[in-house]
Amino acid sequence: MTNVLIVAEQHAGHLRKASLHALSAGRELARRTGGRLAAALLGSGIDAAAAELAAHGVEVHVADAAVLEHPLAEAWAPVVADLARATGSTLVGAAATAVAKDVLPRVAARLEAGMATEVVGFGGEGSDLTFRRPMWAGNVLAEVEITTPVKVFTVRPTEFAAAPREGQGELRRAPVAVDAASLRTRHLGFVEVKSARPELTEARTIVAGGRGTKGDFRPVEALADALGAAVGATRAAVDAGWVPNDWQVGQTGKVVAPELYVAAGISGAIQHLAGMKGSRVIVAVNKDPDAPIFQIADYGLVADLFPALPELQAKLR
Ligand SMILES: Cc1cc2nc3c(=O)[nH]c(=O)nc-3n(C[C@H](O)[C@H](O)[C@H](O)COP(=O)(O)OP(=O)(O)OC[C@H]3O[C@@H](n4cnc5c(N)ncnc54)[C@H](O)[C@@H]3O)c2cc1C
Repeated sequence: MTNVLIVAEQHAGHLRKASLHALSAGRELARRTGGRLAAALLGSGIDAAAAELAAHGVEVHVADAAVLEHPLAEAWAPVVADLARATGSTLVGAAATAVAKDVLPRVAARLEAGMATEVVGFGGEGSDLTFRRPMWAGNVLAEVEITTPVKVFTVRPTEFAAAPREGQGELRRAPVAVDAASLRTRHLGFVEVKSARPELTEARTIVAGGRGTKGDFRPVEALADALGAAVGATRAAVDAGWVPNDWQVGQTGKVVAPELYVAAGISGAIQHLAGMKGSRVIVAVNKDPDAPIFQIADYGLVADLFPALPELQAKLR
């Protein structure tokens, strides 16, 4: 039996959107392998998030305990591994979030499983199942076969549609056999960057700026606010210290796929494209007509961003 277990995530009791994308990936895997799909949700006081998840038509195993309040990999991994065994799940995955990147490798080690990360698609069926994942900043797509009986994976949420609300899944209590006193790691605190803007990876619209801003992000931020968008940046802008590093989009930053991505003063280096080329509509504003960003842009404006962005903003108003 090849059942599929998707480890969903909540933050402060709210289901994370990325988990719904992972659920779609899980559903596709269940179809390809003929197994059953279930989800796991870990935390403390997470009934509302569990109900929200179950409303997407999936059986949810809820591991609710004080020791699981914070996503400590040391505490979460044994619970997920036990659940995988109990549900006969040989495919265990999650969205490639910061939390999953910490927890899932430990789960893989406990299950003696091979692991594929940042998966963007699947191939084959049954025992011929393969995992498609980018290598070398997205220049190559590798078709990976995992040869261990249990296979662990993370998926890029941007590559799978969010699972729709459909049906009503069952809620089950999952056993939690973790002794808080035995943990060697401790949660010290969570420093949240408070922003009125949407979170970069969840935003429908992003306005991003690069070195072309020369450090003046005001026109980028003003256009973003007019559109209710998140603000992104290239590594050049982050490395120059102009903007915080959690704004960075790209190979070593965040991977995003909004409905609209406006790139202003960004050349379109391969490492930046690796993080945003999945966007539905790409608008580029660059004063160099030969900038590589124009090769992937749906709409290109050869212009100086300093007059162009305010003009665009005025026209939108
Ligand atoms: C291992 C590795 C990982 C990396 N990871 C990332 C990553 O995650 N994300 C990332 O972004 N980069 C990453 N990089 C860096 C990447 O290679 C590029 O250096 C970077 O993306 C360039 O940023 P940029 O487009 O802002 O700057 P530039 O390449 O310098 O481009 C600036 C652009 O602005 C235009 N411009 C200038 N003035 C104006 C104006 N007034 N109006 C309009 N346009 C103007 C110019 O024509 C030019 O095209 C990585 C590099 C390496 C080696």
